[in-house]
Amino acid sequence: MMQALDGLWDKICENVRRGISPDAFQRWFAPARLVETGEDTLTLAVPNSIQQLWIESNYATLLQDAIILTLGDRRAVKFRVEMTAPLISRVPEMAGGGVGGDLFDVRGSGGGVSEAGRGAAVSAGSRAAGTAGSVGSASSAGTLGEGTGGFNARYVFENFVVGSSNQFAHAAALAVAENPARIYNPLFIHGGVGLGKTHLMQAIGHHIVAHRKKARVIYISSEQFTNEFIDAIQQGTLPKFRRRYRQADVLLIDDVQFFAGKERSQDEFFHTFNALFDGHRQIVMTSDRPPSEMQKLEARLVSRFEWGIAAEMQVPDVETRTAILRKKMAQLQVTLPDDVVRFLAERISNNVRRLEGSLMRLASFVSLSREKLTQPRVEELLRDLLQEDARNQVTIDKIQRVVAEHYDVRLADMTSKRRPACIAFPRQVAMALARDLTRASYSEIGAAFGGRDHGTVMHACKLITARTAEDPKIRSVIMLLESRLKA
Ligand code: ADP
Ligand code: MG
Repeated sequence: MMQALDGLWDKICENVRRGISPDAFQRWFAPARLVETGEDTLTLAVPNSIQQLWIESNYATLLQDAIILTLGDRRAVKFRVEMTAPLISRVPEMAGGGVGGDLFDVRGSGGGVSEAGRGAAVSAGSRAAGTAGSVGSASSAGTLGEGTGGFNARYVFENFVVGSSNQFAHAAALAVAENPARIYNPLFIHGGVGLGKTHLMQAIGHHIVAHRKKARVIYISSEQFTNEFIDAIQQGTLPKFRRRYRQADVLLIDDVQFFAGKERSQDEFFHTFNALFDGHRQIVMTSDRPPSEMQKLEARLVSRFEWGIAAEMQVPDVETRTAILRKKMAQLQVTLPDDVVRFLAERISNNVRRLEGSLMRLASFVSLSREKLTQPRVEELLRDLLQEDARNQVTIDKIQRVVAEHYDVRLADMTSKRRPACIAFPRQVAMALARDLTRASYSEIGAAFGGRDHGTVMHACKLITARTAEDPKIRSVIMLLESRLKA
């Protein structure tokens, strides 16, 4: 029976191979096995939920086509996550005893990171040594500069609410936390402000420290890294600076978009990155934009991304926002009326940090005043936050409507293939506005404009930027449209 399944899976894979690169096949399909066939279903066993999510979101059609080619009809594909599949075999041979032994046991316990400085370092090794300035454990780590870029004790997996907007990033983070430097390295988490990137990144750090006492985990923002680097140059302490970062077992580097335009820091980070990567240490990065838009950085790191993974975090849907509110209320031990919770979840939609802020504000109102929390009172208390959220609520849809109306073209022309200049230009304006006012990537914008590609959108944005710079009339139209959209 098993053999028959294996044979069938081999045939399906043969067809899958025709549609993707050998690397992608190796990475996403090779670890999967066919474990069950039903009347109209196939069940694949995969080593973790990332594999499943990735195949589902990127290769569903390819897989279905391969199944049809092999079996003559379609089957619903089910997944079963089995941790027994040998993940390590897929990772390129690691030098220096990376494979087999425990990553963090290969190294001596070391002194930890005693000169933690402005970067937050968590190291069980340094706790044993009891050195000043170091962070002892995940639980006490929050004392180190909460909100100023240090480790935050609340940022653990247990406190993270998983929804469809972040399940992929969450699964990737968990896989990395459980198998540092083994599966996905580097891990690149990207998405908008306040969506939980730092939270997830630090959760990885806490998890690793809790499970591997000797691991040296360093958390730092790229801005702090840059500042320390500059200090080190000025004070002639570069070797010490380098030693510190290159001896990390896990480097969590937050907001790497700040490296943009800082050539020397970027260079230094690149060398650190290489040293760690070659030493089979885990690297996790976050950014507010996808790796493909970090041109300089990506060009250099790209060869290294072969075994890495990029995970996007999106704005949570209203159910997830409600779940986050409920979780935070439980933590704060406050209860707000259901209609207030619903109001918050619906109205504060695109930034979890702001959602949290609103909750805190209402919670303190409730605890300080005996007044009942009425709807007008809620709106009054949260006026600025509600306004801010509305401002950020520019959608591509709205842009298309406003632009079409302004230029007096049909809305359908925003997505049509028609190309006369009287239509093409407004469409390009709308694309450029979408780029400036929403978080959508070039490809997402292209898709929203009738399936145009990344390059077309990029071209439109460049063109509009150039025209705006040279033509005051166009500039004032763009400003008018922007103000209308943000109103
Ligand atoms: P980012 O780094 O993406 O700007 P943060 O990680 O700082 O965002 O998250 C902002 C706040 O929102 C944090 O307090 C974090 O705990 C909270 N948060 C974000 N997403 C979630 C989630 N899915 N579950 C629980 N809390 C979340
Ligand atoms: Mg952050």
